[in-house]
Amino acid sequence: MKQDSILKELKQELGAHRVKSNEPMRNHTSCKIGGMAIYYFEAETATDLMKAFLLSYKLHIPVYILGGGSTVLFSDKGFNGFVIKNNTRKFDIFGMSGKIANRKLSVDKTILYAESGVLTNQVVRFSIEHGFSGLEYQLGLPGTIGGAIVMNAGYFPRNVYLKDALFKIKILNCQGELKEVDTTYLATTIGKSKLASCEEIIVSVTFILEAKDKAQLWERGNEASAYRATYYPNGMSLGLAFGDISIADAMKIPTPQSITSADFLIKNAGIKKKQIGDAMISSLHSNFITNNGNATALDVMNLFEEIKQSVKTKFGVSLPIQSNVIGFNE
Ligand SMILES: Cc1cc2nc3c(=O)[nH]c(=O)nc-3n(C[C@H](O)[C@H](O)[C@H](O)COP(=O)(O)OP(=O)(O)OC[C@H]3O[C@@H](n4cnc5c(N)ncnc54)[C@H](O)[C@@H]3O)c2cc1C
Repeated sequence: MKQDSILKELKQELGAHRVKSNEPMRNHTSCKIGGMAIYYFEAETATDLMKAFLLSYKLHIPVYILGGGSTVLFSDKGFNGFVIKNNTRKFDIFGMSGKIANRKLSVDKTILYAESGVLTNQVVRFSIEHGFSGLEYQLGLPGTIGGAIVMNAGYFPRNVYLKDALFKIKILNCQGELKEVDTTYLATTIGKSKLASCEEIIVSVTFILEAKDKAQLWERGNEASAYRATYYPNGMSLGLAFGDISIADAMKIPTPQSITSADFLIKNAGIKKKQIGDAMISSLHSNFITNNGNATALDVMNLFEEIKQSVKTKFGVSLPIQSNVIGFNE
């Protein structure tokens, strides 16, 4: 099918004013880098999201689901396909359990429903304000719930992950099957992700949260948020660019306590604050790449290569790229 006919069909199905062509991806990623996506649509409801996703399969066009875009690097050439930006923002209390004593209900567990495009920070604030515990250490985490699940996002100083509070996940596959799965499903998808390759998408989730003292939850949340503000850059950046190495690899190299941290390896590979063009290893955290103005995707890719080479030379291990690099092999 020709580009014009695809655009026509997308507009017919999703709304003439809502489907854009040649949309700059730099406007939708935290690093503010990237060329244009040929087709672009913002899903405002779960129905929008599912319809657009299935339509891409019907039309045989490559599709990419974008959450907050905090881990995504689009190539300078852009993406030869359909980007669906997930702006689904509904969340609410779904159910509660507890005891009634002296005609008063004391709640001990709450089920919270959230669409996958809800901003993580928003649902975290809501849960803290209502005295529901489970998400508080994710205060200050950028992006959406869907992106956080796919990336297994968390608060590393305390080893707490957003997925720890998950109850169920509603997933749609490219054949149009909608299924509800529990977190054991993630073990088979996270990392080697069908989710990240868009054979499946997360439509919504439920969290199971425990009643706790609100002041204590704010204390935890503020600790995590202060940590993120102190150690992670707050300008244009690509978050946690490399994944950690395996424990088996870490045991082969001389690092303190067989550390697996990509940040440690980059920091100690002799390339601290290395800059290529306007792309630079952050001075706050070596696993973040900052865009100091007009960095191109090529600058970032060259910097990735240099980082990998330096770590390989110094420690003899290969650092896996964790950022989602899109549109480079077309
Ligand atoms: C300043 C900064 C601070 C950060 N701090 C942390 C931190 O403290 N801890 C941490 O773990 N990470 C951190 N990150 C990394 C990143 O923000 C998190 O991983 C975040 O949760 C990603 O969410 P997102 O919506 O931006 O995902 P995106 O980058 O938009 O997407 C991530 C991946 O998920 C896929 N995806 C998104 N939504 C869906 C969906 N509904 N269905 C299927 N696939 C989907 C995308 O296609 C992509 O492959 C940070 C990044 C930055 C820039």
